Amino acid sequence: MVRTHNEDCFHIDPALQIFVVADGMGGHSHGEIASRIAVASILEFVRASADHDRTWPVVYDARLQRHSNRLRAAIRIAHDDVLNAIRQNGNLQGMGTTVVGLLLDGETAAIAHVGDSRAYRLRDDQLELLTQDHTWVNEQVVAGHLSAEQARSHPLKNVVTRALGGDSEVMVDVQEREVRAGDLFLLCSDGLTTMLNDAEIREQLRSEEPLDVVCRGLVRAANARGGLDNVTVLLAKVESAEENPEE
Ligand code: CA
Repeated sequence: MVRTHNEDCFHIDPALQIFVVADGMGGHSHGEIASRIAVASILEFVRASADHDRTWPVVYDARLQRHSNRLRAAIRIAHDDVLNAIRQNGNLQGMGTTVVGLLLDGETAAIAHVGDSRAYRLRDDQLELLTQDHTWVNEQVVAGHLSAEQARSHPLKNVVTRALGGDSEVMVDVQEREVRAGDLFLLCSDGLTTMLNDAEIREQLRSEEPLDVVCRGLVRAANARGGLDNVTVLLAKVESAEENPEE
């Protein structure tokens, strides 16, 4: 409601089962550039690696399943692509982006993130935050120096400690979750979660409305609180968790 640019970017590819949200930062419209580079780069790698398990130049992590490795490698390569864009154009110095991605494969969901874009899962009416924000305030909460409520209103609440395009190396958090029919995954930028708390998000997700209506309802609710930031909400509902789903 306030910004002239949309620094968020997202993509859904049901055939590849990849879902991504990125939230860019940087002066002028550079945040927009960073989030678009990241999303395009992630999709390209996920598409190119669909039928093999090479993650070069990223080292394959044998503890993780194949699709988790693909998602992790895609995000690492997206980081390099953002850094390369900065190297080629000095004006882009300082741009970066957060990202959260979900890649489904049969009975397992791979979830990976960098920064404060989040993934949640609604299962049996319970909303679970799956990701830990890479922010200074969240580190303080984890260390016991701030309460979650204090963190929400802290002046440094927007400071992210990890981003694509930041330090030369980026650490990507990757997790694997077993998937059940009926699971509802939510990916979002912080424009949603700085405006609505988890209880409010859960209330909206529990509605029986079609997913696009629920998405719009969440964006509308965030905007009604002032909408100080761009808001991106992406929902993916699991119809079937079989190895070769019919649809
Ligand atoms: Ca944001």
